[in-house]
Amino acid sequence: MKILYVEDEKLLAEAVIYLLEKNDIKVEHITDGEVGLERALHGDYDCIVLDIMLPHVSGLEILKSLRASGVATPVIMLSALSQVGDKVYALDAGADDYLAKPFKTAELIARIQALRRRPPLRRDKMIRVGDIAYNYTNRTINHHTTLTGKEAEIFEVLLASPGQTQPKNRLYVRAWGNEPDTGENYVEVYISYLRKKLRQAGSKAKIQAQRNLGYVLKPSE
Ligand code: CA
Repeated sequence: MKILYVEDEKLLAEAVIYLLEKNDIKVEHITDGEVGLERALHGDYDCIVLDIMLPHVSGLEILKSLRASGVATPVIMLSALSQVGDKVYALDAGADDYLAKPFKTAELIARIQALRRRPPLRRDKMIRVGDIAYNYTNRTINHHTTLTGKEAEIFEVLLASPGQTQPKNRLYVRAWGNEPDTGENYVEVYISYLRKKLRQAGSKAKIQAQRNLGYVLKPSE
């Protein structure tokens, strides 16, 4: 297995890497946060181990960028600040585990191996379309604009096929099923809500009406 290890304390890192490699864990070691983020976004690792205090980009910022980009690789955070607040914050931001410094390398190895055995539990499902980052788990656009249930039902159909027209009837059935006393005009109303939510989320994507056909999501470049 191969991990990315971002740690700027070189002596500590050398000692840790020596033991990891003795345990058949290949290590790519980076000492700078900015380079670490770049590698984490584009490399292929079984696990990413991030120190929190790093030059240029902190471990927490790396973690948040990864999760916002839909990278679901397990992450273990390391921190000299062993306060509970940091731990909670790191786990909230999408870390899978947290280890306070100083730690025993055997403990780190055990945690890495445990994460490997564990199926991803509460990983949010994300999709990125143009300037839209949509989270299927909590139904938010760009991490802050939350959709209501019916808005989300309609939006998810449009988002699944950007640039393709979706018949009004399909959108209607998805959101309302066979509920009585509603009409297809509701779709129009909810499309207008969605346009507003996209603007609120800072997206330049457009939902265009195609006369007599339906609606299409046109993502921004
Ligand atoms: Ca550090």
